[in-house]
Amino acid sequence: YMKIGVVAFQGAVREHIEMLKKIEVQAFPVKKREELFGVDGLILPGGESTVIGKFLRDSGLGDEIVKLVKNGMPIWGTCAGMILLAKHIVNQDYVHLGLMDIKVKRNAYGGQLESFVARKPVPGISKRPLELVFIRAPYAEKVGTGVDVILELDGKVVAAKQDNMLATAFHPELTEDESFHKYFAEMI
Ligand code: GLN
Repeated sequence: YMKIGVVAFQGAVREHIEMLKKIEVQAFPVKKREELFGVDGLILPGGESTVIGKFLRDSGLGDEIVKLVKNGMPIWGTCAGMILLAKHIVNQDYVHLGLMDIKVKRNAYGGQLESFVARKPVPGISKRPLELVFIRAPYAEKVGTGVDVILELDGKVVAAKQDNMLATAFHPELTEDESFHKYFAEMI
């Protein structure tokens, strides 16, 4: 069985683990460096990026993740996880893992659009429209040349891939559709 860890300090951890189990991947929470041993891939869940980021720094898990990702370990960040992966955050004066060449804006959909569901097919992932759940979500204003845009919404990048890194501004784990989890498992 393929083993995928979910960083488990805070946020939508259980939902990711349940979705992975549905597609017959061995899934478990990760809080310590030792728990990364033997992991085939890692998910950074949605939640609060400042909180998860602080735990990543204090525990030393962040440094270990950076090393493993640079050595090719597949990683997927959803929502706050996308912010954690980013090399640039436009409305914050520091970054977290700084791995992915995307320029994200936190809480980018202000006011009435803070939380919403869009429905769109996702090229290469699902021909049927998928439910895209946005909760105080970021988007990427700009992506580097090495980044493949998977999906845009109103001209903003909401899903992208760079080598072994995947980022989505929305939450596939809060829907019934397993397409994104299958796509990530295939990256592994
Ligand atoms: N607004 C949150 C942040 O900045 C992300 C929200 C989410 O993950 N649903 O970290």
